[in-house]
Amino acid sequence: MRKFISLRFSFVLLLVACAGQPGCDQHILNMEQTQNQTLNLSEEEWKARLTPEQYHIMREKGTERPFTGKYYLNQQRGVYVCAGCGSTLFTSDMKFESDCGWPSFDREIEGGKIKMQTDRSHGMIRTEILCSRCGSHLGHLFNDGPTETGMRYCVNSASLNFNHSKEK
Ligand SMILES: [Zn+2]
Repeated sequence: MRKFISLRFSFVLLLVACAGQPGCDQHILNMEQTQNQTLNLSEEEWKARLTPEQYHIMREKGTERPFTGKYYLNQQRGVYVCAGCGSTLFTSDMKFESDCGWPSFDREIEGGKIKMQTDRSHGMIRTEILCSRCGSHLGHLFNDGPTETGMRYCVNSASLNFNHSKEK
C-alpha cells in the first residue's frame, strides 16, 4: 500500500515536472493529433451540426452577402477556427481591413490547415479554399493582398468561429 502511494506521488511529481516543458506535454500533443485527424461526416450529420446558412455556405459552396458577416469588422484579438470542425485556421494578427465585404487574412496559421482547388463556377477561374480537416468550403484565395505576403484569404464569416484571446 505504501509503495502504491509512493508510486502515485511520483506520478504526480512527474506531471508537475512536465508542466510547461517543451516536448513533454503529451496532452497538448494528443489534442493536436485529434485536430489533424480528418473529419468525415454524412450530410445528415452536417445538417444537424450547422445552421442552414452555414450548411449552404460550407457544404454547398455558397457565399454570404458581402458586408453582412459577423466577423467582417471584428478587430478583437484571438484565433479563428473552422466552424465545422474547430481546426485553427487564422489569428487576428493575420486579419487586415479589407473593403471587399468579407473577413480577409494575409496568410494561414500554418501550412496544411487549408487546401486549395480550382473553382470554375460563375464563369470565373478562382482558387477555392477549404478546411483540410473537414473539407468545408471557406472562401477564395486571391493574390491581390495589400501586405507583404500579397495574398488575400477571403473567408465567409459563417465558415468561422472566433475564440477570444485571454491576453489583453
Ligand atoms: Zn473544418
